[in-house]
Amino acid sequence: MPEIPEIETVRYHLEKHVQGKTIKHVIVNRDKALNVPIEVFANSVINQEVSSVRRRAKQIIMSLNNAKSIIVHFMLEGYVRLFYANEELVGRPSLILSLDTGENLAFFKINLGYIHLVNTTNLKVMPELEGLGPEPLDPEFKLEDFLSLLSQRKGMIKPLLMDQQFIAGIGNVYSNEVLFCSGILPTRKTSQISEQEQTRLFYCLEDLLNRAIQLGGVYEEKFTSDDVLTGGFEPKLQVAYRTGEQCFVCSDIIKTEKVGGRNAFYCPTCQH
Ligand SMILES: [Zn+2]
Repeated sequence: MPEIPEIETVRYHLEKHVQGKTIKHVIVNRDKALNVPIEVFANSVINQEVSSVRRRAKQIIMSLNNAKSIIVHFMLEGYVRLFYANEELVGRPSLILSLDTGENLAFFKINLGYIHLVNTTNLKVMPELEGLGPEPLDPEFKLEDFLSLLSQRKGMIKPLLMDQQFIAGIGNVYSNEVLFCSGILPTRKTSQISEQEQTRLFYCLEDLLNRAIQLGGVYEEKFTSDDVLTGGFEPKLQVAYRTGEQCFVCSDIIKTEKVGGRNAFYCPTCQH
């Protein structure tokens, strides 16, 4: 599932390629992805300019000129692609937004995820974004806040990092990577992690997410045919999906273990 760096890469591309353009036509192939009837959705977005593109947790918020917003959650397999005016739209997207430039913005595999139409004014109280924890990259989110949140928790650290109500936007890939960066085993009890380790975890989280964003995350699906950014962080992964391979730091073999129902990847030598 895409996490902060992947969704941030999508946001960057949408801002660069779609913001300021007007939606001219809508095709819905999967009406179950929507929260309103197709006609309501189409009437609300056609002839509207995309005025801003934001991210909250793992969701994209495209706001339109008419105080409506489209919220997209890709969940496990969804992705979005822009086809240039001279390109043939291939595949069967769940939704296509045709732009005034002749380009087509196509959302694929929105099966577990959704595309919801909401009022921009109600963003903070809408169910899609309610109950989410703080954004780890929010400048207002400080070390003291992180330590204070951790002190209220008792369970294993890896599932906690993936808990969207604890902090937003971290999933399986970056929870593994940040624990490697901090030298902490995924199974450690949060209450038994020293303050020094917790502090390292905070700075690793910030640094890791920022580097992953700069390199385009680990998404496999390119945004455009000439997209060279998306997926650039993949070769930088230290433990995630590297079971049986050598640790880049100590040459020990990377191990996998089920922790909280998900695969934890770790180095038994570098992490304690
Ligand atoms: Zn190692």
